[in-house]
Amino acid sequence: MQRDQQIFDLIGQELERQRHGIELIASENFTSLQVMQAMGHVMTNKYAEGYPGRRYYAGCEIVDQSEQLAIDRAKQIFGAAYVNVQPHSGAQANAAVMLAILQPGDKILGLDLSMGGHLTHGSSVNYSGKLYQPHFYGVNRETGLVEYDKMEEIANREKPKLIICGASAYSRDWDYKRIREIADQIGAFVLADIAHPAGLIAKGLLNSPFAHCHFVTTTTHKTLRGPRGGMIMMGQDFENPFGLKTPKGETRLMSSLIDTAVFPGIQGGPLEHVIAAKAISFFEILSDEYDVYAKQILKNAQSMAKSFVGKGYQIISGGTDNHLMLIDLRNKNISGKKAEQTLVKADITVNKNMVPFDDKSAFVTSGIRIGVPAITTRGMNEGHMGQIVDWIDQLLMDADNEGLILKVRGEVNTFMQQFTLYPEL
Ligand code: PLP
Repeated sequence: MQRDQQIFDLIGQELERQRHGIELIASENFTSLQVMQAMGHVMTNKYAEGYPGRRYYAGCEIVDQSEQLAIDRAKQIFGAAYVNVQPHSGAQANAAVMLAILQPGDKILGLDLSMGGHLTHGSSVNYSGKLYQPHFYGVNRETGLVEYDKMEEIANREKPKLIICGASAYSRDWDYKRIREIADQIGAFVLADIAHPAGLIAKGLLNSPFAHCHFVTTTTHKTLRGPRGGMIMMGQDFENPFGLKTPKGETRLMSSLIDTAVFPGIQGGPLEHVIAAKAISFFEILSDEYDVYAKQILKNAQSMAKSFVGKGYQIISGGTDNHLMLIDLRNKNISGKKAEQTLVKADITVNKNMVPFDDKSAFVTSGIRIGVPAITTRGMNEGHMGQIVDWIDQLLMDADNEGLILKVRGEVNTFMQQFTLYPEL
């Protein structure tokens, strides 16, 4: 077979882009070489519908072992009783939980997308807002913090079947105990979507949802630094409240409903090569090295937030407890869109993001979201954050100065040479 040089050239260009730039997109990271290698190997050839030990295909003895290792390691990391490593993405993980416990038309309550929530938490353009009836809580206009009193008020009024906590752009920790208390008043389930801060929760650096939330979903590629994918967990399994029985007349546990919702509910064959890569990333998370990494994420985020505040930038909620911050640029007279476009010309990648009570559309936005997991993986520490903020500030204050953009880009590219990325490639 002739080699597809066109695509391999593009892969090479993408590697160079990643090497030369400062990656501040909060949901991105750089996997280890072994995680990446595991995603491109022979397990991609294997069909394995079903679960370890109970497959619909022959020849699964080996992938059974690697999927079981992924499950066991994830259980160990989070102290979870149940793990399903098959969801192809975070969105699929959330879809499977909803399919397992909701009927079309049921009410759900999540954080508003424009306040930091995720599309899969009830947005009208997503299955979650089309199949179910979404309601939303938000953050306080002054403090930028989640309004638990409002959440309680809406929960008591609307009586949703599911309350979803977790976010894509919220820099503070969550009060999972309080959310469970609210849910218990109305007999609702709680889903914690920890896609963003999962790596920090894994190392005990943020509150753990496992004792309080019925279901926990995550992506595996953000702070967890694994392959692109999703995962569903439960702190403890429990009898399903729907009276569903197995063909033998035994009560089906919730774990069984979730397994069925993933496959055959929303997916076919699992990506066993990606599951092998998930297992490797979990192996890495169990190491002391990852412990140091997770703590450095927090130090870097704190240091970066302090530098931004020092230059007069408004961080929603005034700072951060985790790996990211959301910056309101309205006092700097530049939109999120323009900021993103200007920074990327200097090889600094951030994403535009709506801020709470934004007066601009999702295409323009008044803010940018900044995260440090990727630059922390590159080896940066607190000492480097001030320099990055300095470049960002120079560019945003003089966004049409092409000469300045070129100058900063040169400085960024030289700076990044000290942080090697995939030297083996
Ligand atoms: N949940 C949250 C909170 C997220 O931030 C994201 C992705 O950004 C997802 C779910 C969806 O993950 P994926 O892109 O893997 O579908």
